[in-house]
Amino acid sequence: MSVLEDFETGVSSSFFGEISRLGHEQVVLCHDEATGLRAIIAIHNTVLGPALGGTRMWQYASDQEALTDVLRLSRGMTYKAAISGLHLGGGKAVIIGDATKQKNEAYLRRFGRFVQSLYGRYITAEDVNMKTSDMVHIAEETKFVTGLPEWMGGSGDPSPVTAYGTYVGMKAAAKKAFGSDDLSGKRVAVQGVGQVGMYLVGHLRKEGAEVFITDINEGKLELVSKEHGAHVVGMDEIYDLDMDIYAPCALGATLNDDTISRLKCQVVAGAANNQLLDERKHGYDLIDRGIVYAPDFVINAGGLMNVASEQRGQVNKDATMAQAEGIYGTTLAILNRAEEEGINSQEAAIMLAEDRIASIAKVKQSYLPN
Ligand code: NAD
Repeated sequence: MSVLEDFETGVSSSFFGEISRLGHEQVVLCHDEATGLRAIIAIHNTVLGPALGGTRMWQYASDQEALTDVLRLSRGMTYKAAISGLHLGGGKAVIIGDATKQKNEAYLRRFGRFVQSLYGRYITAEDVNMKTSDMVHIAEETKFVTGLPEWMGGSGDPSPVTAYGTYVGMKAAAKKAFGSDDLSGKRVAVQGVGQVGMYLVGHLRKEGAEVFITDINEGKLELVSKEHGAHVVGMDEIYDLDMDIYAPCALGATLNDDTISRLKCQVVAGAANNQLLDERKHGYDLIDRGIVYAPDFVINAGGLMNVASEQRGQVNKDATMAQAEGIYGTTLAILNRAEEEGINSQEAAIMLAEDRIASIAKVKQSYLPN
């Protein structure tokens, strides 16, 4: 029986079991008859600050799949904020629906009111299938929204910062794997040339890497291959390529039992969230294959740094890019720590993030009058 079915029958133990297993504080189901809105907001941890994380709109195959996604994504946001030294907790929202048909002003504003009802415990932003223009509608109903366009004083599209952080994180992983962070002449396969992948390809080509790209969208492939001189490869072919670095920049869970044994690279470093289907098993499978893995939530944190500047009311692209540059040092420190402790890099990153949360939780134990 699925967690939600169990919940629907009123036997709530496994619904709460699922939430407590990953350590969530609060999960909110949002429903509106008039607009057809169905959303889930998950607040994982608010020790470091308000839970900030984007809203993803997706046609999930089931409510269970949506719940699993939002729980995993919000937990990742907690670790991303913590490892990046930000004063933010982790949260995420998913809207269950077809972004091409259902999204309109009323629908988004209704969602904004649900965000407002949490009164700042959760702050939203864009994610897959949600744009800055959608945030403008949401902002009509709540002040707890980031990722607004620059003309509204927002931080605009976070993708260039995410791509830059991913690029420097990839260089750190290359340093660990090859002894040098020079990517010129390296064969890099980028899976997904959307907002982030496209900018990443630009950085790689500028440094002289040979880049292979794949995407389900033919138009994007044509554009990026023409603009940057990247080679187009098939969707499944990418896993078997003779490559040095594999960069997943589409959706999650592409590191799994079917793919890892096929990878011939020495580094995996990309922007997609939740790349490891099973954090523990697949993290160790990569080590067994001699592959250095740059933890996704560490190297894709540039976008969060971007919206965090907006949340602080200090939007400054140069300062945010400089902050994203720090991802190089963080990644290298994590990879070294993982090697010293004989654990996989994902576990090392989580350990460091949890250490910071635990130590700040102790700081906050003492009473301070308002
Ligand atoms: P996007 O939707 O603009 O791009 C994703 C691309 O992947 C699209 O071009 C899509 O056609 C392609 N794609 C989808 N399924 C594919 C498949 N099976 N094989 C190959 N290509 C496929 O999204 P984005 O903003 O570029 O984000 C990419 C990833 O990075 C996502 O996982 C996102 O959660 C993560 N991420 C993005 C940001 C950001 O700032 N945009 C920040 C952190 C993490």
